[in-house]
Amino acid sequence: MFTQPLYFDYAATTPVDKSVAAEMTKCLTFEGNFGNPASRAHFYGWQAEQVVEAARIHVAKLINADAREIVFTSGATEANNLAIKGCLEKSQSVDGELEQNHQQDHHQQDNSHVAKNHIVTSQIEHKAVLDACKALEQHSVNVTYVAPQTSGITRVDDIANAITPQTALVSIMLVNNELGVINDIAAIGQLCQARGCLLHVDASQACGKVAIDVHALHIDFLSLSAHKMYGPKGIGALFVKRSPKTVINAQIHGGGHERGMRSGTLPTHQLAGLGECSRIAAEQLDTDNAHYKALHAHFLTLMQPLSGWRVNAQSAPRVDNIINIAIEQVDGEVLLTLLDDIALSTGSACTSASVEPSYVLSAIGLPRALAHSSFRISFGRYTTKDDVTTLVEKIHQGVNTLRSSAA
Ligand SMILES: *Cc1c(COP(=O)(O)O)cnc(C)c1O
Repeated sequence: MFTQPLYFDYAATTPVDKSVAAEMTKCLTFEGNFGNPASRAHFYGWQAEQVVEAARIHVAKLINADAREIVFTSGATEANNLAIKGCLEKSQSVDGELEQNHQQDHHQQDNSHVAKNHIVTSQIEHKAVLDACKALEQHSVNVTYVAPQTSGITRVDDIANAITPQTALVSIMLVNNELGVINDIAAIGQLCQARGCLLHVDASQACGKVAIDVHALHIDFLSLSAHKMYGPKGIGALFVKRSPKTVINAQIHGGGHERGMRSGTLPTHQLAGLGECSRIAAEQLDTDNAHYKALHAHFLTLMQPLSGWRVNAQSAPRVDNIINIAIEQVDGEVLLTLLDDIALSTGSACTSASVEPSYVLSAIGLPRALAHSSFRISFGRYTTKDDVTTLVEKIHQGVNTLRSSAA
């Protein structure tokens, strides 16, 4: 008989919360709220617009922003692209530079005639950030990829050393999706403000796990995604700081939606979902975190008897729902085949020819063999203690099998 595998891959995506699905369903059929939110001339449009604006408020509240600072996108990948390309396109032109310099930093007037074309980011950002930066390198943008500490943290001093008068943007994630470590965004925000560059933060893994106040943290752009917090795939947002006004160039043109920064008819049902999952994420932040903390502790306790394993990037501040572990003498891929009724991610990515260890694990200095012995376990709202007990039992069995066959 087929039983559904136990799900430990919430960092890859989460199921949609039932109340989120219910809100979405209300915005689809003829009986429901199906109008185009941009239809200004009739009831159907107004009704849809209400859902969109309610969602904007819920998203804004989750990060302590103003609703007018939220730009809806198709997800965090697009939000990251919009922030990075939109900002650099603007700052590469002297006009944009003058504007941003004037509003951002009154101390750096001497640079105000220099178009800025430099980005500082880390080696362990999500591919949506790294690949957007790589794409810009083809267009006269210079990028510094700062190496993280072995703890998984990107040090503020290392970012400071990388910033030059040409630096337009610093892009650093709040919570790393593979390791679960939390960067010191408050300090990075202060640094960026002092040095007259803008700060983009990918907060996809942080929303619903870390309380976020974009203004206290001096964040200029922040990306988030619904499907990492019990909402639907294909919808997210970019926070764009309003005051002092920050300007980015649109990457998708047509119609001038979202204050000219992102055109396209707003998907009412998706936004109903994003709004509701954001509302719940804010409301349940403490409850969810207490749950993750209990599961995390339970996991560590049950794993204790096993020898030769460790938590990767252990010493850094972290969220409780992501644990990346390495088990010596065990190939992560092979172990996964033994854990056939468990769903989780390994630390490796298959490229066409070979299995390469994760670039994140490599960048924090994990030896190749240990990177191949690593996998990520991520808990969620629907994970139970019993699920964790079963997971650890299976890990023990699998590891014993592999080690005894190797001996
Ligand atoms: C999932 C994720 C993304 C991509 O988000 P999508 O909405 O799937 O495009 C970007 N950054 C991080 C850190 C993520 O975890």
